Amino acid sequence: MINPADTVTIAVPSSMDKTRELVQKHLMNVSTPEYSQEQVIAYKERIKHLLKVHNAVIVAHYYTDPMIQALAEETGGCVADSLEMARFGQQHEAETLIVAGVKFMGETAKILTPEKQVFMPTQEATCSLDLGCPVDDFSAFCDQHVDREVVVYANTSAAVKARADWVVTSSIAVQVVDYLDSESKKIIWAPDKHLGNYVQRQTGADMLLWDGACIVHEEFKAQGIKQLKALYPKALVLVHPESPQSVVEVADVVGSTSQLIKASQTMDQDTFIVATDEGIFYKMQQLSPEKKFYIAPTGGNGATCRSCANCPWIAMNSLEKIVHALEQGTDEIHVDAELGRQAMIPLDRMLSFTAQ
Ligand code: SF4
Repeated sequence: MINPADTVTIAVPSSMDKTRELVQKHLMNVSTPEYSQEQVIAYKERIKHLLKVHNAVIVAHYYTDPMIQALAEETGGCVADSLEMARFGQQHEAETLIVAGVKFMGETAKILTPEKQVFMPTQEATCSLDLGCPVDDFSAFCDQHVDREVVVYANTSAAVKARADWVVTSSIAVQVVDYLDSESKKIIWAPDKHLGNYVQRQTGADMLLWDGACIVHEEFKAQGIKQLKALYPKALVLVHPESPQSVVEVADVVGSTSQLIKASQTMDQDTFIVATDEGIFYKMQQLSPEKKFYIAPTGGNGATCRSCANCPWIAMNSLEKIVHALEQGTDEIHVDAELGRQAMIPLDRMLSFTAQ
C-alpha cells in the first residue's frame, strides 16, 4: 500500500495559465439563451421533424439544459453520463448523432462510430480538463515515465486518448486503477488532479498526477456545505470526486453523476445537498419528485462565479444551435482515421472492462 503522501503532483504552470486565460475568455462571452414559451415549442417541433428527416438521435449529458434533456428523452435519445453516452451512440441504429455536451463527448462518439455522422450544437463547448492537457506536453511527460501505465479520464482530446493505455470515466476510475494496482502496475493519471487524488486514496495505487482541474467542481467549498448542512441537518451530502479533497471529506456519498443520481433515488433521505453541476437536478427531481435538492455552496461572487455549479461550456448547448446543426450541417465532428484507430484501443478497453 502506497501512502497518499507518496503520490506526486506534477505542476504544469504554463498550460494551466493558458487554461485559466481561455476559461476567462469563455466566461466573458458565454450567454445562456432565454426563450419565450412560444419559441421553445417552435424549436422543439422543428427539431423533432429534423431528427426524423436525418435519421438522427440526441445524446445528451446530465449537465445540459433541462429543455435539451427533456427533448432527448421525448425523441428516443438518451440522457446519461459520458460512459453511457458513448455506449448509447455506439449501439443505437440512428445514422446521425447529435451530441449535446462538450467536445470530447462528440469526439468519443465519432471514434466509437466512425461510420456515423456526429454533430454537436457547438464545437466551442469544451472543458477545462481537456484544455489543460495539451497532447505535446502530456506525451513528453509520459515519455519520461515509460514504466507506467497511462490512464486518462474521458475528459481529454482524441490525441491524448490515443497516447493512453486506458480511458476511464469517473464511474469506473476506482475499479480500473484498483485492477491495475493488483497487477502491480504503476500509473500516470491525467488530467484531473482532484479525481486522481480521490482514486489514489481509494486504491492505494502508485500514481503520478497531472495538474488539471474542473473549473466547476473546484469552486465547491466545504465550509459552505457545513453551514448549509446546519440548516438542513437531515440532508445527505452528495459529492462528485472532481471536487477538492476538503469537499469530498464532508460527503456522505462520493460518486459519478450516475452514482449520485442513483443514491438520490434509492436512499431514504428526502433532502440532499449536491456538489456537481446543477443540470443534474433535472434527472434527480424527475426520479424523486417528492425530494428536495440544494446545490452545494461555491466560491460566491468571485471572478469565476459564472462557472459555479454551472459549466459555462455545457451551457453553450441550446435548442437554437441544435436546429442550426441539423439544418445547416454545421459543427460536424471529424477525427483523423489513424488517430481514431489509436484512441479506440484504450476506449475499447474501458467498454470491455465495464461489460465484464
Ligand atoms: S463540468 Fe467541468 S469536467 Fe465537466 S465539461 Fe465542464 S469543465 Fe469539463
